[in-house]
Amino acid sequence: MMKVGLRVDVDTFRGTRLGVPNLCRILADHSVKAAFFFCVGPDNMGRHLWRLLRPAFFLKMLRTKAASLYGWDILLKGTFWPGPLIGKKLGHIIRAVAEDGLHAWDHHAWQAHLDTMSSNEIYNSLKKGIDELTKILGKHPVCSAVPAWKCNSSVLVEKSKFNFKYNSDCRGQSIFYPIVDGHTLHQPQIPVTLPTYDEAIGKNGVSDRNYNDYILSLLNPSSLNVLTIHAEVEGIAKSDLFRDFLKKAQAKGVSFVPLGELLSGSITGSATVIPKEIAGREGWMSYQNTKETNVK
Ligand SMILES: [Zn+2]
Repeated sequence: MMKVGLRVDVDTFRGTRLGVPNLCRILADHSVKAAFFFCVGPDNMGRHLWRLLRPAFFLKMLRTKAASLYGWDILLKGTFWPGPLIGKKLGHIIRAVAEDGLHAWDHHAWQAHLDTMSSNEIYNSLKKGIDELTKILGKHPVCSAVPAWKCNSSVLVEKSKFNFKYNSDCRGQSIFYPIVDGHTLHQPQIPVTLPTYDEAIGKNGVSDRNYNDYILSLLNPSSLNVLTIHAEVEGIAKSDLFRDFLKKAQAKGVSFVPLGELLSGSITGSATVIPKEIAGREGWMSYQNTKETNVK
């Protein structure tokens, strides 16, 4: 039996309203539990998607047919009027899942401005999200995951001031404690090991027809496996594809668990977190620095 950590990112109002209930149904039908990471502030993702008409981003839009994948209402959110506050309107949906985490107060703002945010601004953004989520859940969120894997040393330090059991802020290969300025922080990082749908599709001959087999071929029984799906994608436009994925994976003996269940006894050491650019994604993402992973 191979364990795969399953993480659901919820980026938008539409993803929360439609994608989360859909995914909850699909997961329940397969007796699967996942960690959900919510955005609870304003949905300005339309602003994000239109902001950058750079070649790389434009190609990605064409490749993934952004409008059919995300829906026109997502592409327009926050562009002509302020985006709706997700937590205020959809708290009843956020309350219903197994392992609740914070994704962001404002996904767009984090992605667009993290590079220039001060420690104080990072703290305040985290606190706003945590306070709203705590109001909705009646308890502190268990975990957190930054939008778009945009994490730096200040983020790691500011997060350690809150009560998270773990964070999932980067890509990598093993669960580790992050090192900042020579100090090892106490909140473990559970990195994502597998590509997301929009990263993999349309490249190297990967299409909807062979996507599920492609992801299954990347699973490694001898190491950490963590998959991120999106409420907006696997929960709406690609829900049939995702149902088929769960069926195929379970037939191969894969058991999906919320990320927190991967923590027991498998923290292999400590590492720094570094920015890297990868093909098929706009801008940099955070990575576990595998060259400097100190194994205990
Ligand atoms: Zn996200």
